Formats: sequence, C-alpha cells, structure tokens
Amino acid sequence: MSGGDKLEFEIRPNPAPVSAADRAALLANPGFGRVFTDHMVTIRYAEGKGWYDARVEARGPIPLDPASAVLHYAQEIFEGLKAYRTADGAVTMFRPEANAARFAASARRMAMPELPAETFVESLRRLVEIDRDWIPEQEDASLYLRPFMFANEVFLGVRPANEYLYLVIASPAGAYFPGGVKPITVWVSPDYTRAAPGGTGAAKCGGNYAASLVAQAEAIDAGCDQVVFLDAVERRFVDELGGMNVFFVYDDNTLVTPPLTGTILPGITRDAILTLAAEAGHRVEERPISFADWQADAASGRLREVFACGTAAVITPIGCVRFPDGEFLIGGGEPGRSTMDLRQRLVDVQRGRAEDPHGWVQRV
Ligand code: PMP
Repeated sequence: MSGGDKLEFEIRPNPAPVSAADRAALLANPGFGRVFTDHMVTIRYAEGKGWYDARVEARGPIPLDPASAVLHYAQEIFEGLKAYRTADGAVTMFRPEANAARFAASARRMAMPELPAETFVESLRRLVEIDRDWIPEQEDASLYLRPFMFANEVFLGVRPANEYLYLVIASPAGAYFPGGVKPITVWVSPDYTRAAPGGTGAAKCGGNYAASLVAQAEAIDAGCDQVVFLDAVERRFVDELGGMNVFFVYDDNTLVTPPLTGTILPGITRDAILTLAAEAGHRVEERPISFADWQADAASGRLREVFACGTAAVITPIGCVRFPDGEFLIGGGEPGRSTMDLRQRLVDVQRGRAEDPHGWVQRV
C-alpha cells in the first residue's frame, strides 16, 4: 500500500465451514483459546512494496520456511481484544483503535513496519462480520480476536526483516469466571523480572511472554494464579502481573496504579479504569508502589482492595499475596466494594448496557 491508497480486502469464504450443529456444540462450552472460527485475515508486507494481498480466507496452517526470521530472532508482536453480542443483538468491539495504536507502538519497538490503524480496525471488522455466528450468546462470553504479525523473510542475518505477515484469528471464549467473580492469589516472584528500563516491557511481543513462563510456572507451583513482577532495577516496586495490570484502592478513596515508564504494558483496560474511576468519584494516581508498602498498608488496613485488570478477566480481585517468606490477605480475601463497582461499570459499557460518553464501543 503506497501513499494513502486504501487496501482492498479480497474475501474468499471458507468452502467447508463448520456445520451449524457442530458450531453450536463448540459454543456451548468454548473455554479459552482452543476453539477457532472458520476464517482468518492475512496481509503481507514487503520492503519497497508496502502492505499488499489483504485477504479474508479459510483459517488453516500457514506455510513457513525453516529459515523464516521469526523462528530465530523472535520478531513478533500481537494484540488481544474482544467482540461482544449485546442484548439488542448488535455486535460490538471495545476500543479497537487503542489496540491499533498499541500494535503500532509495539511494531516500532521491534523494528517492524506499522500497519495503518484504519487497516488494523478494518481487518477486525471483516473477520467479525464473516464469523459473527461464532460469537457466543452466554452472559460474559465473547469472541476473542488475536491480531499478530511476524517476520517471514527467509534470511538468517540478524537485522530487521524485509518481509512480514499480519494475521487475525478469532476464538470464542466462555466466561472467565463461570461461577461468579473469585479473588485470585498472586505470587511475588523473588527471582525473575519481566522488563528492564530500555527493554521491551511496553511492547506486546511474544518474547516478553516466553520470558515470563518460568516465573508463571513458579507461581502455579506455589499454588497461585498469577505472578507479580517487581521492577528489574531495585526489585522494590510493583510493575504488573504476567498478563494483567494492577490497581490499589486505599481507604481515602484513592486508586493507585504503577505509571507507564516503559517497563509495563499500557493496558487498555487500565486506561479505561483510570477514566471510569475518576468519574465514579475516586482520586486516581499513577505512581510507584513498593512491595514493602503493599504489605505494610495491607496490615494497617489503609489498603482496602487490590485488583488486576486486562481484556481476559476485565477486573479480578486479588485476595491473597504470597511470597517466599509468607503471605498476607487483602480485605480479608473477599472481593472489595470499589473493585466490584468498577467492574460492573466497565462491563456495562462494554456490553452496551450503559452510556458510552467516550465512544469506546464500536458497532461492527
Ligand atoms: N499486562 C500484560 C503483560 C498483558 O499481557 C495484558 C493483556 N493484554 C495486560 C497488561 C492488560 O492489557 P489490556 O487491558 O489491554 O488487555
């Protein structure tokens, strides 16, 4: 795509889609990330040529040369967002332009070409349109959209690749908390950090997640749900969880979350909560919180609630914090009032049940 030309999508419907009966059976209990829709989007990029060959086609394996750069040097980025079916039967997405902007920022950090925001959002719309029957109907279920891009140039030299493949796949997702919201237990990793200043922490690149897996496995071994990473320099301040941002709620009605200094992912849920919480009358602050203060303020009762947030679980109360020397509870281990109130406010906007003054919800 050169100088402002609009990329046209070629639509090639899947000649052998899943039958309606099989689809209904899959949608009854989709879980997360194992069931996929009939189609995918693919767009190619070549240096000098730009973006070309935009397609919606049958989902299936993609040919990959063993010397594809991504397999060696991990030049790869991705995004995650959801499409919903609202009570009136409409199909919506939550803040897809924000994902487009973050995808472009990730691309810049990984020396990859930027997909124009307009093309990114259109690629999501095209896929949701053709696979709209795959959006589950159950309360709290959704269609998870996974745009991603990787270096597919066949070359073993270490430098930014000259060819890339962008794809979007979609996966129906059941309710994250089928039995109602339950507080999670988190593990504060003593050994591993996620991102150093100057590193890739603010980019949504696969390598960040590869590097977090051993810490997440340690969390699971310790009987916890998620790992908490501390800053890589002093090992003192709370950065974020393996796949979620974190908020602290104090007894003076203040909500605090770590600032975006380049080592954490700028969550779109985090951003929405900062706005919604201010509108709900909370004071909101973006500032560092040390693990020592977390522990001391939980003990004194000044810290009332802590929650994690992200696309998958929206807002999840943190009930228990475990570390090698012990553990402590937050709010007696029960979900807090502000946490559940903010959760409801956010879900109501996402599901089209509340006003949307910020224009966050896009109809497909
Ligand atoms: N931090 C990390 C490391 C994540 O993987 C995610 C999920 N994308 C988040 C935070 C939350 O981001 P978002 O609210 O945009 O889903």
